[in-house]
Amino acid sequence: MKIKTMPDALANKIAAGEVVERPASVVKELVENSLDAGSTSIKIEVEEAGLRRIKITDNGSGMEPDDAERAFLRHATSKINSEHDLFHVQTLGFRGEALASVAAVSQLTLKTSTGKEAGTILTLSGGKITDRQKGDARQGTELTIDHLFFNTPARLKYMKTIHTELGHITDVINRMALSHPNVRFELYHNGKPLFQSNGRGDLLQIIAQIYGVSVAKKMIKLNHQTLDYTITGYVAKPEVTRASRQYISTIINGRFVRSIPLNKAITNGYHTLLPIGRHPIAIIQMKMDPILVDVNVHPAKLEVRFSKEKELFNAVEEAVRQAFRKETLIPEMTEPKPKIEKSSQESFQFEHRIFKEPLTGQEPSEPKLVENVPEDSIPKSTSTLYDQPERWDEGIHEVIEPSEQPIEEETKQTSRVPVLYPIGQHHGTYILAENETGLYMIDQHAAQERIKYEYFRDKIGQVESELQELLFPLTFEFSNQEALIIEQYHERLKEVGLFFEHFGQNTYLVRAHPQWFPKGFEEEVIRDMVDQVTEEEAIDLNKLREEAAILMSCKQSIKANHHLNDDEMFQLLEDLRGTTDPFTCPHGRPIIVHFTSYELEKMFKRVM
Ligand code: ADP
Ligand code: MG
Repeated sequence: MKIKTMPDALANKIAAGEVVERPASVVKELVENSLDAGSTSIKIEVEEAGLRRIKITDNGSGMEPDDAERAFLRHATSKINSEHDLFHVQTLGFRGEALASVAAVSQLTLKTSTGKEAGTILTLSGGKITDRQKGDARQGTELTIDHLFFNTPARLKYMKTIHTELGHITDVINRMALSHPNVRFELYHNGKPLFQSNGRGDLLQIIAQIYGVSVAKKMIKLNHQTLDYTITGYVAKPEVTRASRQYISTIINGRFVRSIPLNKAITNGYHTLLPIGRHPIAIIQMKMDPILVDVNVHPAKLEVRFSKEKELFNAVEEAVRQAFRKETLIPEMTEPKPKIEKSSQESFQFEHRIFKEPLTGQEPSEPKLVENVPEDSIPKSTSTLYDQPERWDEGIHEVIEPSEQPIEEETKQTSRVPVLYPIGQHHGTYILAENETGLYMIDQHAAQERIKYEYFRDKIGQVESELQELLFPLTFEFSNQEALIIEQYHERLKEVGLFFEHFGQNTYLVRAHPQWFPKGFEEEVIRDMVDQVTEEEAIDLNKLREEAAILMSCKQSIKANHHLNDDEMFQLLEDLRGTTDPFTCPHGRPIIVHFTSYELEKMFKRVM
């Protein structure tokens, strides 16, 4: 006989591979147990990012002596009894795996009491109970996990740095606090307090704790009810966006879940208020009948399945949309929109050909309109290119100021766009231009983005040691996790020209930055760099440069509905000719549309 059932110890160790991936997953499982036990106060103390010790103390129900022993058996749970229960789970745990798995790969001490009789103290090593004692009768449970992975050296080896692991733990506690504002959480690392929430149910205060007061001030409350769903929480005004999706928290019946379609529903709720490639900060709490959500999909229960997903996504999208509508956030254009006359609209409904070039080849991606970036997310002084050129950094002058010698001379051979002569502007948005081959329409904003993008891309490409000293240092308030990342990547950040100076708690000062940072946008670029490092746990300079270039080009470009005079139009077209890819903006939208003389003549039936 070759097939045997595994001994429990081995089975538990194997299961541990799934449930207990790293110290943070232990913290997650144990805190979930404390929450399921009805705790209102949970203290988490970790040493060496949890690898030396994780201690969780709660004031929950506690366990009776024989339950305490049974809790370590695999598939031992007090939370479900039947299949029916599985579809009505109200608790965070139900698989009965966590304690058995954690115990299998650590040395563990459990102290617990229901408060009615003497408590129980159990000591386990590698999942086997090695000692039993009576303990005091304080109601609640204290679990101490020492030397995690001591008997699975391969797993231990796989652990990243202390900073990374601690970052994950902080992340877990942040999520727990966001999903349980009524529970008091305390997190300590090597005796130092890292996070604390007061458990008074004020979600906004928790947001402030995690993301900083300045972010919390920009949050809008959300409250939407449908037959099946109650949706509450906060979304950030579109002026505070992040380069990463990880600032979106979706919580279903108190369980933090990850769901791409839910994220999408939230983003859709912002409609065009979000600049392309940017993500919101959002904390969305959804309450529903447990029957509508299947939580038994993922061992760590991060992923769930919804039974009426369309309805839920619509409700979430609507909740976000309504929140903004109530705030009347929709930006108004500073200049009045010229009235569109019916006839002029109709006259443009002819066939046209997008100016195609072999090099760009790809289809334009998602043509979301960048013009809809709310006006107040762009500092007024730089919102138009031509109004206040003196506010711009010198390099930009090179691009926008008319050159002395005719550009035609220098770009004739290299430019991929012919010389164009502006005739006028349509709706303050499109430049109409012509040459002997026909008529051209140029999206002025897209053109400007392309010009700026290439400028910044080149500029950012030259990483020099040249630093711009600041008269007043910039102050940054980071989340715990971000602060940890900054500490960890201090050296790498220095190499790219960012010197963070610690200034108490999670506050950092920046006294100088690389020359290429455009004036007025330093904070944004720095934030984006930190976002990238936080999300990817690495600095990809090329990607950073690319993102920064797109961000800056987008922010600094002239908006639609902006009048340009003839010189400005001519200059813009010349600048566009000077770019290497004049046909699409950095987001892939077309810049130039061309109507050949032949097409025009055909339209007017001058030729057949
Ligand atoms: P599950 O949470 O899926 O039931 P666990 O292995 O995490 O499985 O826990 C097993 C059982 O131990 C739980 O069902 C619960 O009865 C008990 N338990 C675990 N932690 C605590 C705690 N902090 N307070 C009270 N009971 C607990
Ligand atoms: Mg559990």
